Amino acid sequence: MPAELIDGNVIARSIRDEVALDVAKLVARGIQPGLAVVLVGDDPASEVYVRNKGRACDEAGMHSVTINMPATTTQQELLAQVKHLNDDPAIHGILVQMPLPKHLDADVVIRSILPAKDVDGFHPVNVGKNLIGDRDGFVPCTPAGVQEMLARSGTVTKGKECVIVGRSNIVGKPMMALMVQNGANANATVTVCHSATRDLKEHTLRADILIVAAGKPKMVTGDMVRKGAVVIDVGINRIEDPSTKSGFRLVGDVDFASARERASKITPVPGGVGPMTIAMLLKNTVRAAEQSAGR
Ligand code: NAD
Repeated sequence: MPAELIDGNVIARSIRDEVALDVAKLVARGIQPGLAVVLVGDDPASEVYVRNKGRACDEAGMHSVTINMPATTTQQELLAQVKHLNDDPAIHGILVQMPLPKHLDADVVIRSILPAKDVDGFHPVNVGKNLIGDRDGFVPCTPAGVQEMLARSGTVTKGKECVIVGRSNIVGKPMMALMVQNGANANATVTVCHSATRDLKEHTLRADILIVAAGKPKMVTGDMVRKGAVVIDVGINRIEDPSTKSGFRLVGDVDFASARERASKITPVPGGVGPMTIAMLLKNTVRAAEQSAGR
């Protein structure tokens, strides 16, 4: 029987509805959660992401500000902007859209955001909190969304073999830190595979939960999936497809058709992990507002 779908659109919708209720409660106490997104330059993909984030905030009743800065912005100007937002009491979450133009140092910019407002979870303080399992920090939105999908699809994680393909700071490493904790929706035995892994299939075939974030279209095929595994495909790749109007389509890092024949549950692309990222960003921002108000 083909795997059951884990529908990211449905799960993200319920999270966004819950966020809207939490926002209403905070607004009743005189606090409107506020998110500032800083966009430097005019990368068209980033513009779309930023617009979607702003719309999602508005829909949830949050305050949202988008700061567009030219591609010629200097490091000092960007740091001054972040400082201004750090000092602004109406802003609880700050996100600097990546990638930044090449002349800017992303690490320095990320470190300049107050950890309490770093709703993207990339500041070293939040990275460290995630690793030690301190839940008052902020976890990067994509891995946090994956954990939420596992929980809301009723996937048991305790004692399971969880294999993660990819070790980026954005997905693979924080995913590892989440799944290994001795706590709810975690407590798995975690293996992290990467570009130097000797025999990837040997590892993926052991996985009860297989999370793939490698940035390689359809890299994980059905023969690499253990029968009955839960497969989470984080990948988003644009491939050419002359049969579509635009000439391209989006595929994941997992070969969906063959993997679906072996898995018990699987996320599609698009409509899987993708929609979760914004939902988790809103959730993080509401918690930042709650924590700033002392709950
Ligand atoms: P990245 O390029 O930074 O990292 C890819 C990782 O995969 C690396 O750690 C590398 O070691 C590993 N890898 C590459 N080839 C491999 C191989 N053959 N065997 C084993 N490991 C291999 O990518 P990223 O930023 O982590 O993103 C991964 C994918 O997830 C991309 O497709 C990206 O578009 C997507 N993504 C989606 C979302 C979302 O919202 N759904 C968010 C972030 C990233």
